[in-house]
Amino acid sequence: MDFKKYVASVKDFPEPGIIFRDISPLMYNGEVYSAATDKIVDYARERGTEMIVGPEARGFIVGCPVAYKLGVGFAPARKKGKLPRETVSVTYDLEYGQASLYMQTDAVKPGQKVLVVDDLMATGGTLAATIKLVEELGGIVVGTAFLIELTDLHGRDKIKNYDMFTLMQY
Ligand code: AMP
Repeated sequence: MDFKKYVASVKDFPEPGIIFRDISPLMYNGEVYSAATDKIVDYARERGTEMIVGPEARGFIVGCPVAYKLGVGFAPARKKGKLPRETVSVTYDLEYGQASLYMQTDAVKPGQKVLVVDDLMATGGTLAATIKLVEELGGIVVGTAFLIELTDLHGRDKIKNYDMFTLMQY
């Protein structure tokens, strides 16, 4: 299946110079969403995944159906002020400014094999931050999976020690 046909590339969004890769057409089409999910499910099985972790918000869209299909749990890494119980957090640099992600301390069990999933990897900053949270909780990151990898930004270099699956590259 030509998955790229279902990604809308929007120039200068959200700011000049950025090409936004919008996965909405892929999600809107049940057959394509399901086929894309299955590719990540196959990879997750190969890696022995016991738990899926995805960062807010598009990590939920990609990660939850994978968790459902595998019959494993899903834990969100969320933005500030969303989680009601005890959390661990990480602050990381964005192109402009900083961002923080939080996970509840009982989201991942020590020794649990975790797959980190998101829609797109750009600089790899969000991924590195999510990995840090999982490892702080004692989880073992057995792999990372994305629908899209922006190869020019060399995000892979940030996380050399982790296995990665990407469905599409731009
Ligand atoms: P990064 O932390 O730089 O790897 O950025 C990853 C996050 O930002 C992902 O959760 C994406 O959803 C979003 N993102 C970054 N760049 C783009 C882009 N060009 N198109 C769509 N989403 C993007």
